[in-house]
Amino acid sequence: MSAPQPLETITILGSGPAGLTAAIYAARANLKPLLIHGGQPGGQLTTTTDVENYPGFAEAVTGPELMEAFTKQAERFGTRFLQATVTKTDLSKRPFRITLDNGTTFETQTLIAATGATAKYLGLPNEMRLIGRGVSACATCDGFFFRNQEIAVVGGGDTAAEEATFLTRFASKVHLIHRREELRASKAMQARVFANAKIQPIWNSAVEDVVGESEVRGLKVRNLLDNKISDLNVTGLFIAIGHKPNSDLFKGYVDLDAAGYVKTVPGSTRTKVPGFFACGDLQDHVYRQAVTAAGTGCMAALDAERFLQETE
Ligand code: NDP
Repeated sequence: MSAPQPLETITILGSGPAGLTAAIYAARANLKPLLIHGGQPGGQLTTTTDVENYPGFAEAVTGPELMEAFTKQAERFGTRFLQATVTKTDLSKRPFRITLDNGTTFETQTLIAATGATAKYLGLPNEMRLIGRGVSACATCDGFFFRNQEIAVVGGGDTAAEEATFLTRFASKVHLIHRREELRASKAMQARVFANAKIQPIWNSAVEDVVGESEVRGLKVRNLLDNKISDLNVTGLFIAIGHKPNSDLFKGYVDLDAAGYVKTVPGSTRTKVPGFFACGDLQDHVYRQAVTAAGTGCMAALDAERFLQETE
């Protein structure tokens, strides 16, 4: 734990793969970065169990183990960690001003934002308890664990269509539960869904609750037309109702796309504010993988380092 200096060189917000990779690179470049993380360090990966697609691990590693290794590596090279909530950023001039929840303010020459995106959940009574035990918001991460099982996806957008299609590689059947009678996904994605015999749409329906003690055993599904509730025997529920990028702190300074993702200059992590860099899921709604987040975290540290050299 480290108090911020009156003027920091590089401040990193977020401790997922993007933020920690930025920290490893900035620390190895002797820039003594300050990394600020919230109450649950490690980001979205800490809510997953086995991670089997992060390169470099022949055997599965758990999300929390992986993030602990990232953290130790960042620490080893001199990253300073601070647990705090940033309540305000002023990016109108450099150095940027950061305000913490305890009222402390400090300035930083560069800021790397790696605040990620939060998967939206349905808010059901048993949903959170069963995350990582059958409930997931990431088919790429967890689909593999549902070989020959019957599962459900909820949502009607491109993510739901893509995840349902992807999951048919493993699952014996995928129920696609949507609250309307048609998908909002692109026509091409819809065509793929409807051509796939393993996907069974359940229209005009909402998941009422997830059933199961230590793992998912089924769902309670309400038909929104007649309000009848029925049981659906599935072992997995993939929530694909969208993500919310954590970009509120930067609103008004940088350009955001319609969904709230920070816009970066293609091929870099630069934004329209010189000295402010965005990486990871905060600026990526397409790939959203730990390894791509780590890749852009590396880019952000290199971009910041170059920026500091150029402005010195
Ligand atoms: P979207 O916002 O497009 O879709 C969310 C879906 O979830 C909608 O069908 C919505 O229903 C439903 N939904 C939202 N809240 C609830 C709720 N509480 N209960 C039940 N259902 C709910 O999000 P996506 O993640 O699908 O896509 C985000 C963006 O990323 C889009 O621009 C999309 O095009 C893009 N994308 C592109 C991909 C590609 O090109 N390969 C892949 C994935 C995403 P309703 O329809 O009723 O509003």
